[in-house]
Amino acid sequence: MKALVYEGPRQLNIRDVPEPEAGPDEVLIKVAYSGICGSELSGYLGQNSLRKPPLVMGHEFSGEIVELGSQAALLKPGLAVGQRVTANPLIYCGLCRACLAGRHNLCRQRQLLGAHRPGSYADMIKVPAQQVYPVPDHLSLEHAALTEPVGCAVRAVKLANINALDTLLITGLGPIGLLVLQVARTFGVTKIVASDTDPHRRAIGEQFGVRVLNPLAENVVEVVRLETDGLGADAAIDAVGLTVTRQQGIEAVRPGGSLILVGLHDEESQIQSNLVIRKEVKLLGSFAYTPLDFEDAFAWLAAGQVQIDPWLLKAPLAAGRDCFERLLAEPGPVAKILLH
Ligand SMILES: [Zn+2]
Ligand SMILES: [Zn+2]
Repeated sequence: MKALVYEGPRQLNIRDVPEPEAGPDEVLIKVAYSGICGSELSGYLGQNSLRKPPLVMGHEFSGEIVELGSQAALLKPGLAVGQRVTANPLIYCGLCRACLAGRHNLCRQRQLLGAHRPGSYADMIKVPAQQVYPVPDHLSLEHAALTEPVGCAVRAVKLANINALDTLLITGLGPIGLLVLQVARTFGVTKIVASDTDPHRRAIGEQFGVRVLNPLAENVVEVVRLETDGLGADAAIDAVGLTVTRQQGIEAVRPGGSLILVGLHDEESQIQSNLVIRKEVKLLGSFAYTPLDFEDAFAWLAAGQVQIDPWLLKAPLAAGRDCFERLLAEPGPVAKILLH
């Protein structure tokens, strides 16, 4: 079969590789769509310790079941050949203390498809049966492939612990920031201020009726304070991860407010620790999603609560390398690229 193989920094090539064989507890899926994730962009640049060449990346996908392992239908009743599906690519043990506590995203034995195991930038992928979700008829395979990034947004918004009357600051309207915006709306939050340096992304955010600041021209912290009678936002979600956006979040939240760190840009940042203490800022990392977050994301996509079509770009797998380069350079009005 054909696969897009990461072979070293900025080397991403179509290769013939052996077709995977489904083990007894696995399902073989013919991939329809596979999204490009920010973590894979850093992988492509050779800046991601999880992703070592040679590797077939890809973990945001949908497709059709072509083969069931002998035990697969027992492990996940209802699965059948020919079914349209998506899958939770974060495989967990289910037995450790983290898993027992419902925090499967922190399982020390977790493995991500497309990082620890071969991913979905290929004609076929094999997946443990329990990770597979049948897609309802009215949900497109394009949208089904978005379940994983929406799951990341669901986790971040849940951790922000906000309600409909709260004010939320979202720094960064890349794919995750844009999905955070829509998930926060699903939670009923209407007072949202966002920021992004990219004019296309600002324009996308504005289409959701949100005030989107240009942090290079406007003082994000000051605007948030003006919008909240001087108090500050109830929560901030940083979908960038630069030192400056982390610092902005700390300053922009009200005393007792939360800053959720999602963006992974800077490995280390100097922050205003004393301010964090005096304001009792709740600093929380948000990593991936639990199975429940994934299922919520899937249900909300199926309910039509995620709008992304105007900024969804589809490209053949063979154009994968060009798409990675485009996302790293000047993506334009694109929120997500799906390879097919
Ligand atoms: Zn992802
Ligand atoms: Zn575990």
